[in-house]
Amino acid sequence: MASQELLILAGHAWQCPECRRLLLETPEKALSGHRLNEEERERLARLEAEHFNSISALAQALSVEVNDLYEIMNHARTRLRHF
Ligand SMILES: [Zn+2]
Repeated sequence: MASQELLILAGHAWQCPECRRLLLETPEKALSGHRLNEEERERLARLEAEHFNSISALAQALSVEVNDLYEIMNHARTRLRHF
């Protein structure tokens, strides 16, 4: 089960090109200060640009359910959560 925090950050990176670029280029910086465990931090830090080609590719790269990712996209915290 993916944590809400991981889903929110992944969902925001999907929606926000600036934060996506930050995550892809400087993951340590982008992820610092967020409540993630080490394993979740690594999963997000490993993401590459091609994983953002589709929501299902992103879900697969993160080992989360596509439906969980779709659901979090509608969350206000996801839209507003700049890194
Ligand atoms: Zn953002």
